[in-house]
Amino acid sequence: AVRVRFCPSPTGSPHVGFARAALYNWAFARHHGGTFVFRVEDTDKERSTEESYDGMLGAMRWLGLDWDEGPEVGGPHAPYRQSERTELYADVLEKLAASSYTYDCFCTTDEVTARRKAAGSKVQGYDGFCRDLSAEQRSAFEAEGRSSVVRFRMPDGAVTWHDLVRGEVTFETEFVPDFALCRANGDPLYTLVNPVDDALMQITHVLRGEDLLSSTPRQIPLHQALVDLGFSQQVPQFGHLPLVMGEGNKKLSKRDPQAHLFMYRDAGFLPEGVLNYLALLGWAIAADRDVFTLEEMVEKFDISDVNPNPARFDLKKAEAINADHMRMLSVDELTHRVLPHLKEAGVVGDPVHDADAQLLELAMPLVAERMNKLTEAAPMLGFLFADEESFERQELVDDAGRDVVRAARDALAAIEHWSTAEIEAVLRQTLVDELGLKPRLAFGPVRIAVSGRKISPPLFESMELLGRDRSLARLDGALV
Ligand code: GLU
Repeated sequence: AVRVRFCPSPTGSPHVGFARAALYNWAFARHHGGTFVFRVEDTDKERSTEESYDGMLGAMRWLGLDWDEGPEVGGPHAPYRQSERTELYADVLEKLAASSYTYDCFCTTDEVTARRKAAGSKVQGYDGFCRDLSAEQRSAFEAEGRSSVVRFRMPDGAVTWHDLVRGEVTFETEFVPDFALCRANGDPLYTLVNPVDDALMQITHVLRGEDLLSSTPRQIPLHQALVDLGFSQQVPQFGHLPLVMGEGNKKLSKRDPQAHLFMYRDAGFLPEGVLNYLALLGWAIAADRDVFTLEEMVEKFDISDVNPNPARFDLKKAEAINADHMRMLSVDELTHRVLPHLKEAGVVGDPVHDADAQLLELAMPLVAERMNKLTEAAPMLGFLFADEESFERQELVDDAGRDVVRAARDALAAIEHWSTAEIEAVLRQTLVDELGLKPRLAFGPVRIAVSGRKISPPLFESMELLGRDRSLARLDGALV
């Protein structure tokens, strides 16, 4: 059975690369009816924070990517926070050492560098000096009071795997030095805990960013050792997802605001839109279509279709995709989604008054087709909810417009039934037929007077919703 994992380090805020890896693993698991494991790689005590941990969980919830095992839901391999698994790693380390898969290394970095230099070696990293120390050498180092780290003994030859995205990948182990598995104080390192947990949690497929490709030739031999020692049944298969390039064809960096997932949430993107966009960073559902639902992705997702070439990040495209997903929501659903943003902007209260809820229900159909992001609701609809004291005009009616607004006001005051149709008929007759104005010059100033903006939801409908008194007050207010 397929078991995949998503294992962020809780350092910093969730970024786009994180979210794409989560999505691909999730879609892969769901497509195969497998298990999606969420593990937290928080062994780096200096860099891990609770705030970031909460952010990682919050991001997954916002995206709607549910996990079968992991924080809060538990599971057969609990705990899922590596900081709580220290004893497991100590046990693995002990067994690796007992079978000589590892050795203690007493060298300092300076000593290694000096030896590499003296030998004229181009290879970086550890030179294997302590691989086969005699008991005497060992005691001599200990007597000097040297501390030691545990190193993994890399096998000779080459490490080759069939990458699920990139095809065959080979590293000559001559260029992959023996690596440390824990710090001198015994704290386990990523190099140990990541593959050990993949083994203990019976992970079958490791799908992760290409930035981690160079750790794979280290991890595969370690996995083989773990299989030999009975910790797991098989070495997982690996697939490395393409890099995501930002501006200027540089790797999307954490310094780039667009790299941060919550930027999209706060800017009013739908999670559906973001997921669809993330999916496109390396995968396509069809040659002629780039808008699809998560269910469609689950049905079609095939890791061998992922393109190994770098994916280019494009905010405009993300916005366009999001706009399409906005159109896919029912008006009711859209109303439900914009509500938190309207509350946040102070357009409606929290809780929402009944009158405002009714007004919103009537107003949403006017704007549903025009909104590209949830945050657009507040500026678009704010004028309908504002009382006259708090109403703020973004635009003022110019001098030519004032005569138009005055004429409109007098004509509207005489309307018997305040309805969209009557409002439109009266304004057309007065401004277009009698004053001979072009529609744009006729209705533009009225729109500005009523909504305070040049662009608004449909004018006559909006005025009906505002009601006679408030509409007339807005027209008056524009004239002072
Ligand atoms: N904790 C690692 C990271 O956030 C994940 C490594 C992996 O997916 O294997 O970079």
